[in-house]
Amino acid sequence: MAKIVFVIIDGIGGLPTSVLKNRTALEAAKTPNLDYFAEKGQTGFTKNFKIDNENFLRENGSNFGYISLFGVNPRKTNWKRAPIEAIGIDAEFEEGNLAIRFNFAYVNPKGIVESRRAGRISNEEGKKFTEEIKQKINYSGDYEIKHQLGYRGMIILRSKQELGDDITGSDPLKEGIHPRNVQSLKKTEKNERSANMLRILEQKVNEVLNTTKLNTGRRSRGGYPINRILTRGAGTKLPELPIYDDFAAICTSPVEFGMAKLTKMKILGISKPEEEYKQDIDKTLEVLQQNYEQHDKFLIFIKAPDTFGHDGNSNKKKQSIEYLDKTIFQFLKENINLKEDVLCVTADHATPARLMRHTAEPIPLLISGKIKPDITTKFGERYCKNGDLNEKLGYNIMHLLYKIYRQ
Ligand SMILES: [Zn+2]
Repeated sequence: MAKIVFVIIDGIGGLPTSVLKNRTALEAAKTPNLDYFAEKGQTGFTKNFKIDNENFLRENGSNFGYISLFGVNPRKTNWKRAPIEAIGIDAEFEEGNLAIRFNFAYVNPKGIVESRRAGRISNEEGKKFTEEIKQKINYSGDYEIKHQLGYRGMIILRSKQELGDDITGSDPLKEGIHPRNVQSLKKTEKNERSANMLRILEQKVNEVLNTTKLNTGRRSRGGYPINRILTRGAGTKLPELPIYDDFAAICTSPVEFGMAKLTKMKILGISKPEEEYKQDIDKTLEVLQQNYEQHDKFLIFIKAPDTFGHDGNSNKKKQSIEYLDKTIFQFLKENINLKEDVLCVTADHATPARLMRHTAEPIPLLISGKIKPDITTKFGERYCKNGDLNEKLGYNIMHLLYKIYRQ
């Protein structure tokens, strides 16, 4: 059965850094298997969006990247991430409800956001804090709060009256400043209503966090007390997406689950990401191995390089790419038949460890199998410049893969 295998490696693109002798993490990593596919195929760059406003990128970098790789022009669709994640984590979200993402955070006595993630929070701890809120909150409105991963969670607000989503959350998107005031961006009745409901709910949640005993010992364990939630990305609508019911998806994060569900992909179970990136990759490989014969199209999401990009750890980012090469791409090298199958590797956006955030840099792109090899023999930013794929818009890639596959 001829296959399409599309691997999206979150944040794999980067910038050269002195830590890696002026190379990017992908260039510095030893990746014989990815290089094999580059040698047998073509490389180039993906461009998912072009915006240089920093706050916009923080908030929309992965949103735009994902929706683009699912074949939709992100400029032509008005959607927010929270509703998709709500679907992804099986929260009860219906169009018209207001879904909003939140972080557990620490605000210091001067009212300044000192940590948007309260240091770091384990999955288990995040779950405990969420349970505590559910039990102790003094709020009578119709709402749901759900823990996602680590420091992240989701709130859904419901009302018999219409709710708008043109509102800001309280997350200032960077540290060292005050939280934002929750307010409507366009003064309409429905936006005002949403902003008011959210403002009150946040206040009630924060009351619980400020009195809970769960914070005891967090400082001595190297974290911050969790005394605030910071909300962002409110949304009431789901985007219209193409259907890919011939694909099987191996996902780890809520937005990936959400996207895969909405596009009717078959979801192959990986539940919550592990704390250790290697375990995550091992699990992904295991699921791929077990299901490889049963499906002919796979979408595989990999998280690790993005995490280390955000942490500013170029070496770890490089190591995570090497580990991926040794595991998943070794398996693919052994199993992909380049005469029949099509492999594509790219990302939703770049996350240079040097900048510790998403950027709009062009993202390395590799397509191998059923395609005439170009002169590139390695996978990495500086090599991709010579590749025949040149620059592809992210939302054309799925289409291109089907085209090559059907030739
Ligand atoms: Zn990221």
